[in-house]
Amino acid sequence: MQNIKQKSPLMNTYARFPISVAKADGSYLTADDGTDYLDFTSGIAVCNLGHRPKLVQRAVEIQLQEYWHVSNLFQQDIQERAATSLITGTHLDQVFFCGSGAEANEAAIKLARKYWFDKGTLQKSEIVTFEQSFHGRTGGAMAATGQNKIKHGFAPLMPGFTHLPFNDKQAITNINPQVTAAVMLELIQGEGGVVPADQDWVNELVHYCRTHGILIIADEIQTGAGRTGSLYAFEQFNVKPEIVTAAKGIGSGFPAGACLASAEVAASFSPGTHGTTFGGHPAACAAVEATMGVIQEEGFLREVQDRFAIFRKQLEQLASSYRQVKQVRGSGAMIGIVVEEAAPYLQKLRNRQILALPAGPQVIRVLPPLTASAEELSTFVQVFEEILQEGEISHD
Ligand SMILES: *Cc1c(COP(=O)(O)O)cnc(C)c1O
Repeated sequence: MQNIKQKSPLMNTYARFPISVAKADGSYLTADDGTDYLDFTSGIAVCNLGHRPKLVQRAVEIQLQEYWHVSNLFQQDIQERAATSLITGTHLDQVFFCGSGAEANEAAIKLARKYWFDKGTLQKSEIVTFEQSFHGRTGGAMAATGQNKIKHGFAPLMPGFTHLPFNDKQAITNINPQVTAAVMLELIQGEGGVVPADQDWVNELVHYCRTHGILIIADEIQTGAGRTGSLYAFEQFNVKPEIVTAAKGIGSGFPAGACLASAEVAASFSPGTHGTTFGGHPAACAAVEATMGVIQEEGFLREVQDRFAIFRKQLEQLASSYRQVKQVRGSGAMIGIVVEEAAPYLQKLRNRQILALPAGPQVIRVLPPLTASAEELSTFVQVFEEILQEGEISHD
């Protein structure tokens, strides 16, 4: 038995795995009893280059030798470089840095409302989001989230959010342009079960927003940083959102969040309108610049796409051979395997030293590092097939 504390000084906000971490390196995590696990959680889509990628470590170490904190009242080249690394190759122009995904969405919500306020259309303050979406745990981000279980017990919620069914073309016409500032969506819902948006639906939604003067906010907190095989998922969905939020993977495990926007929209933030003490932390920015630099390297994402296309095909073969596997969905290295009940599979994988995540009760969410080798990906497929061969999953 590992050294798991029964009574903890930590608040009980996470149902933690029975694994106490000692070390992590590349695609592997080592428990304090010496067990190595193939980590296909990547810290919930954070360690996209694996654990402790050398280039990122070096960049952070260099920054730590220079300075740690000076406040955002100073000009900091490392912030400018990190921002550039996030927008290079996109249609986006400027970045607001913060410390997490939820904060990035808070910034996006404020920015969208301020944009219409500045235009003199104060009534356009409503944000439309979608059922089963996840946008974070803070006040605005929680109100934006389309899952009741996230909000239960936390009333009163911030007003001004409407949830519509996801992938429902009919519902789009319910969006009232008179009062709607923005539509905010995950192009592939993560926590909601790795559910991709339908291209047809996205096309109609974008057309509606463009026709009626409604901003589009893409929450790319989970789908960004190369996770879906492109730098951001919006590239695959033929949409150019005015606002994009990123976090999780952008700093390889250093806490960084970012709200990216077009120049026109970004102009609504001026000194005194928004801010946070630790936003754009120099060490986190060094991690962001180094991480995004690797992901933006010529050929890096193409190679990820190829490697994960093979993995995807192998998983789909399992889906056609084993009736327990109902569907395989997602994109790139963000994969959902739909089964009757995810939890027993996750436990069986863990017993065989492989870590994956749930996304809702029926989805095994597989988030390998983008750098996982073909062999490591094959290991997952082999072990998962062995589990499937055991037949009906039982609770153990
Ligand atoms: C994780 C996540 C968030 C919240 O990010 P935090 O850093 O945990 O605040 C928001 N949106 C999506 C899509 C996420 O996956």
